[in-house]
Amino acid sequence: MTAAISESELDPARARLDVVLPAGQGWTHELRAGEIFRIVDLEGNQAVDTLFFNARDLDERYSATETIRRQGSLYLTAGTRLMSSEGRPLLTIIADTCGRHDTLGGACSAESNQVRYDLAKKHMHNCRDSFLLALARYGHGMSKRDLPSNINFFMNVPVTPAGALTFADGVSGPGRYVEMRAEREVLVLISNCPQLNNPCNAYDPTPIRLLVWCEG
Ligand SMILES: [Zn+2]
Repeated sequence: MTAAISESELDPARARLDVVLPAGQGWTHELRAGEIFRIVDLEGNQAVDTLFFNARDLDERYSATETIRRQGSLYLTAGTRLMSSEGRPLLTIIADTCGRHDTLGGACSAESNQVRYDLAKKHMHNCRDSFLLALARYGHGMSKRDLPSNINFFMNVPVTPAGALTFADGVSGPGRYVEMRAEREVLVLISNCPQLNNPCNAYDPTPIRLLVWCEG
């Protein structure tokens, strides 16, 4: 892996928001244009399933396809512009001490629990349900159809030379973070992955810290 590490100068004591989100919880938050948003992998190797929407027009949302196409690379890291379904930047990653993030693996669901792991795992907590619960609380009538392919921050899903996706041991570590600037008003939707069956998080989902600064 040759990913560059890029650090931030921002002081957590000056953040306007500083919360810890336990594993298995969903979360929504609106960012104003120019605000800086940081996700910290507190204990390491956590998967943070994330989607972004234009807060003024929720039909415009994060597009993995546009993001990959625009940068000509499969992984997300500092410098990546997170593009919308309308081909406009929603946010730009400005610091990253993990090095790369996945946007191909998708969010875990009751169905994928069953197919990937075991029929008996179907009932277990999953990101799709956490997304839907958080959207229901957000209260703008959004549902399953509003969930496009997401970002998995801190998750390691290497692509083999033959083009296969592999869910591998994590590349993150305690205290690693990714930081991004909102390029417009953005709704953030997070499921802090509850998955107990995936080596990406060493079978042990852990809390994350979320910070927002008014400007950089
Ligand atoms: Zn998950």
